[in-house]
Amino acid sequence: MKDNPYLVFNNEILDRRADLRGHWEVDSYVKKNDELNIIFFEGSPLLSTQNEQSSLAYLFYDHWLLKYANLSIFLGLYKGRHLYAHDIFIEQKDPGNKNTKEYFEEKIQKDPSMVRSYFGNLRTDLTNIPEDDSTLAGTGRALIEWNLNNRHCSRCGLFLILLNCGWEKRCENCNKNYFPRIDPVVIILITSGNKTLLGRSHQFPEKLYSCLAGFIEPGETIEMAAKREIQEEVGLKISNIEYVTNQPWPFPSSLMIGLKATTDEQSLNIDHKELEDAVWIRKRELQHLLEGKCKHMQAARPGTIARHLLESWVRGTI
Ligand SMILES: [Zn+2]
Repeated sequence: MKDNPYLVFNNEILDRRADLRGHWEVDSYVKKNDELNIIFFEGSPLLSTQNEQSSLAYLFYDHWLLKYANLSIFLGLYKGRHLYAHDIFIEQKDPGNKNTKEYFEEKIQKDPSMVRSYFGNLRTDLTNIPEDDSTLAGTGRALIEWNLNNRHCSRCGLFLILLNCGWEKRCENCNKNYFPRIDPVVIILITSGNKTLLGRSHQFPEKLYSCLAGFIEPGETIEMAAKREIQEEVGLKISNIEYVTNQPWPFPSSLMIGLKATTDEQSLNIDHKELEDAVWIRKRELQHLLEGKCKHMQAARPGTIARHLLESWVRGTI
C-alpha cells in the first residue's frame, strides 16, 4: 500500500476562469503559442509513453491532429497557460466513414514525432499517468461526454448551439439553456466490528470487489440514498452514516460521495439483479487483499474513492 492513499481527479490545479469562457473566439486560440492542447478520440485521451511512464500528450497549436477535432472546450488556466480539450468523434457510424479510431492511430504511428502516442483508456490508465494529468484529462472527458450526449434539445429535439467555450448549450426554439450535469453517487464503507462489506457488480472486471454504491434519486438526501441502496442491494439496515470524502468520476459524469456507516446485522439478502456477489471480510484479510496477496479477489483499483475508504479503514484513520 502507498503511504498516502490518494484520489485521482482530485488535484486542485485548474483555475477555471469562467469569466474567460464568454470571450473565446475559435480562430484566436490557434494563433497563440503559449496554449496547451490535449486531444481525445470520443473521450479517450491521447497519451504519450516514455520510459514506460505515460502522460498526457500536449500538442502545439498548429498540430495536424487538432484540425480533425469536431469539439473544442476551454478548460481554464493550468500553470498560467490556457488549456483546451479537443475531441474527435465520428458523426456517422456508417461503414463508408474513414475517420475511425484505427484510421487516426495509423496516421499517428506514421508521424515520427508521435510513435509513442496512443489513445489511452482513462479508466484503466488512472494511476499510470501523473496526478495532474489525470485531473485535467478527467475534467476534459466529463465535458466531452456531456457535449456528445447532449446534442439536441430534450423538449423539441432541435440541434443545440454551443456557448461559453463548451460549458453551455442553448435551444433557440425553446429559449432554454443547458449546463453540464453531474450525477451524485453515494459509496459506502459499511463495517460491523472488525469486518467490512465488499460487493461486486455484474459489469466489474473479473475478481474485482469494492464498496457498495448507488445513484442518489430525486427527493433524497445523501443519508436517505445510502440507507435505501444498502437495504435494496443486501438487505441491511445501516446507521451512524458519516461523510468521509468525495471524488469526481467522469465515467461519464458522477460525483462520488464517500461515506462510512455501521450495521448490527450480518446476514445478507443479496439482490442478484444489482449485485453478483457480496461478502463480509475481516480487516486482516482486507489488508492481504489490498496488498495483492489474494488469488480469488482483487480490491478496487488505487486512485479510486473505494480504495481510499478501504485503505483508510485498514490504517485506522477513519
Ligand atoms: Zn427546444
